[in-house]
Amino acid sequence: ERLQNNFQFIDVGRVDPRKKDIDVRKAQFVEIYDPFTPKQTAEQSHRCLECGNPYCEWKCPVHNYIPNWLKLVAEGNILEAVELSHQTNSLPEVCGRVCPQDRLCEGACTLNDGFGAVTIGSVEKYITDTAFAMGWRPDLSHVVMTDKKVAVIGAGPAGLACADVLIRNGVTPVVFDRNPEIGGLLTFGIPEFKLEKEVIKRRREVFSQMGVEFHLNTEVGKDITIDTLIQDYDAVFLGMGTYTYMKGGFPGEDLLGVYEALPYLVSNTKRCMGLNTDNTNFIDMRDQRLVVLGGGDTAMDCNRTAIRQGAKSVVCAYRRDEENMPGSRREVANAKEEGVQFLFNRQPVAIVGEDQVEGVKFVTTRLGEPDENGRRVPETVPGSEEVVPADAVIIAFGFRPSPAPWFTDLGIETDGSGRVLAQEKSEYPFQTANPKVFAGGDMVRGSDLVVTAIWEGRQAAEGIMDYLDV
Ligand code: FAD
Ligand code: SF4
Repeated sequence: ERLQNNFQFIDVGRVDPRKKDIDVRKAQFVEIYDPFTPKQTAEQSHRCLECGNPYCEWKCPVHNYIPNWLKLVAEGNILEAVELSHQTNSLPEVCGRVCPQDRLCEGACTLNDGFGAVTIGSVEKYITDTAFAMGWRPDLSHVVMTDKKVAVIGAGPAGLACADVLIRNGVTPVVFDRNPEIGGLLTFGIPEFKLEKEVIKRRREVFSQMGVEFHLNTEVGKDITIDTLIQDYDAVFLGMGTYTYMKGGFPGEDLLGVYEALPYLVSNTKRCMGLNTDNTNFIDMRDQRLVVLGGGDTAMDCNRTAIRQGAKSVVCAYRRDEENMPGSRREVANAKEEGVQFLFNRQPVAIVGEDQVEGVKFVTTRLGEPDENGRRVPETVPGSEEVVPADAVIIAFGFRPSPAPWFTDLGIETDGSGRVLAQEKSEYPFQTANPKVFAGGDMVRGSDLVVTAIWEGRQAAEGIMDYLDV
């Protein structure tokens, strides 16, 4: 019996969840992966070798107990698996959907070497989705509440993770967000075809039942002052993200028909969510020849949103080669399947047109010597200019930090690029230069990932509790 188990990975290959038909994928804003069946989940979980020193756990930024919950799932024990999964992750069903597993847990799986990694992400998603469907909810009946209250600014993954750990330890988190729904970029950045908004709505209900208070449509600094929060709460956690758009710095960026990635994505998601019924600010790519500039997750989401809106063509141009793209390979493959055309090694030098966009001028690049970060720097090839015709252009070059004006008043320090200084390895993890204020997620790391924001929010909660001595 034991021997058979050990060789399951040879008899049963890696199977990914089925993707929806391509016609559906090209037209609808629904998650493209169907859920695993219970049988598939058990079979795939069974492939885990239960390595003594599991690399997947180390590579997972929140250090999930992966082989342990895979074993529980293989045995059909969903309720124990979901409890265990929530010991390390505040939003496992979200990470299962959007983590770039190929670079994280699954990339580190021993079986990735030739046999196909265990489908860790899909199983993680399955555990929580199934447990919720079975009526499971986190049980906090044993928690003794203290009289401590923490204001959490930002309901993105960092803020939510911080609130989750606080409430489970008897500290009341009160979360403020300027948006009408929780989730931060989970709701207003990542499109429905990767993460349906019902998943976040369900989490809002669960967190509310647990005792987390949400004040939505409330911008700190405008609708409520930071001084009030500092006075009324025992500590403050900042998880405000990064929202300054990076520009290309070439001519033509102000022409009609040139858009920033995030407003484009937000306008579409709000429409899908029924939050934009009068279509104000809705950016529609129907029948347009679109060029998307950039090669990260944001660019991929724009490409695939435009396909679903009915763009005539979508060309994604990136200045390095495919090997050196920063985003998830799975999402690049999905974009290709859905009809996105890629131009690699192309650097935009101008957006051309009279008032309205008519095209993008590129030069071809080749990769030169590595820079100080070890990434090879693109060099331009002389005489390689070309113009790709376009009716619309989306700039998806990423985000820089956006420090609030009140940071200096509070004595919160930032580095040269505007990231808030808050160390993980310190007496109180993620404390800022103001002892009462903690921070984590994109505003500390610079734009990164959902799972790293969750880790920092959770660690900051530990720091806050140490600081408050609870
Ligand atoms: P955010 O998610 O940005 O949340 C910050 C919150 O703070 C927001 O809700 C904002 O409204 C609120 N806020 C800010 N200032 C105030 C204020 N003054 N008052 C009240 N509220 C305020 N990562 C992945 O792992 N996988 C992916 O597939 C992926 N795809 C992405 C696609 C796109 C288009 C983008 C833009 C990002 C993507 N990311 C992805 C990155 C990921 O979404 C972020 O790294 C993560 O959301 C950061 O979490 P956060 O909590 O730090 O910030
Ligand atoms: Fe993998 Fe992300 Fe889940 Fe960690 S949180 S196990 S990296 S999918």
